[in-house]
Amino acid sequence: MITELDIVLSPKDASDKKYYLPILAKKLGVNVSQIHGIKILRKSIDARRRNILVNLRFRVACGGEFPQSEEFAFDYSNVAGEKKVIVVGAGPAGLFAALRLIELGYQPIVLERGKSVEDRKKDLGELHRTRNVNPDSNYSFGEGGAGTFSDGKLYTRSKKRGDLKKILNVLHFHGAQDDILFDAHPHIGTDVLPKVIVRIRENILKAGGQVHFSTKVVDYVLEGDRICGVITESGEEIVGEGVILATGHSARDVYRKLHKRGIEIEAKSFAMGVRIEHSQELIDQIQYHNPAGRGDYLPAASYSFVHQVEDRGVYSFCMCPGGVIVPAATGDRQQVVNGMSSSNRNTAFANSGMAVEIRTRDLKEYQQYGALAGLYFQEELEERAFVEGGENLTAPAQRMNDFVNGKKSSSLPKTSYQPGIVSSPMHEWLPEHIRFRLQEGFKVFGQKSKGFLTNEAVILGVESRTSSPVRIPRERESFQHIRIEGLFPCGEGAGYAGGIVSAAMDGEQCADAFDRYQNPNK
Ligand code: FAD
Repeated sequence: MITELDIVLSPKDASDKKYYLPILAKKLGVNVSQIHGIKILRKSIDARRRNILVNLRFRVACGGEFPQSEEFAFDYSNVAGEKKVIVVGAGPAGLFAALRLIELGYQPIVLERGKSVEDRKKDLGELHRTRNVNPDSNYSFGEGGAGTFSDGKLYTRSKKRGDLKKILNVLHFHGAQDDILFDAHPHIGTDVLPKVIVRIRENILKAGGQVHFSTKVVDYVLEGDRICGVITESGEEIVGEGVILATGHSARDVYRKLHKRGIEIEAKSFAMGVRIEHSQELIDQIQYHNPAGRGDYLPAASYSFVHQVEDRGVYSFCMCPGGVIVPAATGDRQQVVNGMSSSNRNTAFANSGMAVEIRTRDLKEYQQYGALAGLYFQEELEERAFVEGGENLTAPAQRMNDFVNGKKSSSLPKTSYQPGIVSSPMHEWLPEHIRFRLQEGFKVFGQKSKGFLTNEAVILGVESRTSSPVRIPRERESFQHIRIEGLFPCGEGAGYAGGIVSAAMDGEQCADAFDRYQNPNK
């Protein structure tokens, strides 16, 4: 007999099978020995009150095993010699496009400007040692894209429709933890994600796909209004039946090249701000309503805030409980911060982006740059932060209350940001439309969560890569560029995704769209 049941448990009882098994048996009116299989289908923590509870849905088998169909298996059959599709970028969008192309019987040719995960790790070590950013191998560029060294959160505010369950199952199939399949807020962690990415690459190669590292695409081969290939930095021309362009939002050279070639791109609203860091202990105390913190059975607490200030959203973004802040620049004279955590989220720090929505009409002084206005704005602010930090990846920083009160900090708290922080009057140099909204937002967040607005927290500049300021417009149904046939703008860089899972879903959808393009009557 297979039964599904919802049950509410204490964090301790929910933490281990040895605690919840007898409770399940009692509920079902059977002996523990009669239960032959248990599967958690859903798990969420209800921390609204002091008495924290865990909501669980179990599938329980009494007197028999689970049917085989419970397990997802993916068939990546051999596609060598099949129609070639060029996939530019090996981030979540590009990799999931490649896997889906294989499922559909096409041979993906993945071209990635950065290096393999293994070599990329070495370059990140070098970045921390020398403070020099390799423009093709850094926290944003390289195998796995921007999400490889991240918290690996697998949820998003994006309203994008797609097969989320499948994305999670593909990640699980390639080695991600079981709990991503049932946790309400799944995350993988930066210690596990690189291994998952390597297995995805291995499966692409095993199926006859190709993955080329250190291969930067610098131009496009067009026949009239149809794309038939790309040109790499070494001058090689690579042809294919279609091009899925999944280069992420940090590939500014890609936008510039498209613009120069007269391939339509357009400005879109985006977001920028700062990264904030509290002690994880404080966030646990606030979120779990307990001065003693999270105790032995609860995970490091997270938070999520959103508020409207004068017609623009101010919100927390990419929160990393028990994480660290990392230098996420992709070029010279840029100061950019982002956050990551390992699977057990066990540092003493809690960081999050704090972003303010920016619309194109907020950037009047940049209008001469047309579709690239937001990009120039980002670049200027990143350079300003670089200078304010001392031109060596040290981050300009300010205590939270000091920022709200417009006062330069005379000292700074400890931080997880390895290159270090230096006191800077960020209220003076952040653009007005960002500065006052952040200040107002922080006040409101402090009212919503007592203790959150504190001088023990520190803000670091700048969180500038939350979303793309440019869209590469595509047709709604065909997913092809509005003019260039066979070009599929994809993922976050094209302006159609935000975050790992939505980029992955968009990758799959672009592969499906390519299949429709090839077989209009299918
Ligand atoms: P990207 O991941 O940016 O991938 C684009 C790829 O294209 C890159 O590998 C790049 O090297 C390559 N490329 C660029 N130009 C070229 C070219 N000309 N030729 C060849 N290759 C090129 N999101 C979450 O959902 N959860 C998180 O926890 C999370 N944490 C993050 C932490 C950090 C430190 C960072 C930087 C980002 C984080 N994000 C997170 C955001 C997430 O990583 C992105 O939303 C996602 O990776 C976007 O996927 P993408 O495939 O569209 O683009």
